[in-house]
Amino acid sequence: MTMDDLDTLYGEIILDHFRNPRNAAAVEPYDMWAEGYNPFCGDQVIFTASLDSTQRFAKIGCNGQGCAISQASASMMSEILKGKTIDEAKALLERFRSAMRGEVFSEEEEEALGELVALQDVRRFPIRIKCALLAWSTLHDAMDQPITS
Ligand code: ZN
Repeated sequence: MTMDDLDTLYGEIILDHFRNPRNAAAVEPYDMWAEGYNPFCGDQVIFTASLDSTQRFAKIGCNGQGCAISQASASMMSEILKGKTIDEAKALLERFRSAMRGEVFSEEEEEALGELVALQDVRRFPIRIKCALLAWSTLHDAMDQPITS
């Protein structure tokens, strides 16, 4: 990889989330919990969340360690999930996955992804796609096994 490639990969938005991760504190007590690990890179994400009375995401915690891509993706995910229902979160997860697979999507769908679109550059480095998806597969695990606290 050249420096130019690295600059693109770690764009400003990604670096900002990596250096100042949002919602990095674990939620306690939580309704959902899951831990994800990406052995290809050593990335780890611990996801915790609480739901409000309407079953929307109220508080989200994404903490862990690893490369800039994995941690920035977790930080962005923690922001975009707030206020969403489980079904909306599942739809967003599918949309993000297809974006990372390079599938073409509409302007409306791109808008829904917000800053996450910045992670699309990662597609040029297929091994790093696992880094970008780690937080989301952890979310997927958490939604499959909700815990009532
Ligand atoms: Zn990584």
